[in-house]
Amino acid sequence: MAGMSTSSNSSANQLQGDGGPTCHCGLRPYLKTSWTDANPGRRFYSCPNYQRNGCNYFVWEDPPMCSRSMMILPGMRRTKVQMEKEIADLKRAKKLMEFLLFVSWCIFLSFWSS
Ligand SMILES: [Zn+2]
Repeated sequence: MAGMSTSSNSSANQLQGDGGPTCHCGLRPYLKTSWTDANPGRRFYSCPNYQRNGCNYFVWEDPPMCSRSMMILPGMRRTKVQMEKEIADLKRAKKLMEFLLFVSWCIFLSFWSS
């Protein structure tokens, strides 16, 4: 990541930058989103080298899920995924229709001109 070779081990390092967290190996953790059943849509920081490099830095960014959002969020996400799938299917169907229309025109024209 950062090509700087001047990283010191002093705790003052944590005061640098935009105040984001720093993991055990001194990297800026990735902000990810959990989609487990227990924590749907809850964001967390984890080390870029998580479970490699012996670094197991893991910190929740969002507060714990309430039971209501645990019920609602996975459904919303499923609906979104389902809608995206349907849109992709419709696009495929539209392409197929256009192709069939083109083919039928070609057949029609070849008959008509002969
Ligand atoms: Zn780390």
